[in-house]
Amino acid sequence: VDADTGAPTIFDKIIAKEIPSSIVYEDDKVLAFRDISSQAPVHVLIIPKFRDGLTQLGKAEQRHGEVLGHLLYAAKLVAEKEGIVDGFRVVINSGPSACQSVYHLHLHVLGGRQMKWPPG
Ligand code: 5GP
Repeated sequence: VDADTGAPTIFDKIIAKEIPSSIVYEDDKVLAFRDISSQAPVHVLIIPKFRDGLTQLGKAEQRHGEVLGHLLYAAKLVAEKEGIVDGFRVVINSGPSACQSVYHLHLHVLGGRQMKWPPG
């Protein structure tokens, strides 16, 4: 698990398409692509294209409200597109205790199987 240094991450290269990814949804504000290490039949990451200080949810400020809302809405669009809108989970790991490993805020959209709760 990395520390939040504010340095660029691998997701910048994915946004720039310098590293290939399997894109599920994209608009001017967000990019959604399949997680390289999927934990469910559907496992998509959604990230803001402009990180703007949003290394982790725990660093969010008032000005980020619009993009945070849009990320959640994009999660619904991804769930629809993937055929799991009737049952899916959205996860944000924020900080080392939550096992965040990439310090560019991202939503995990998980589904396509029965999910367990609590997750542990
Ligand atoms: P975190 O643990 O920070 O919440 O989640 C980071 C996620 O990014 C992990 O699930 C990991 O599998 C995924 N990931 C890391 N590097 C890459 C990559 O280069 N491509 C893709 N598609 N996913 C990645």
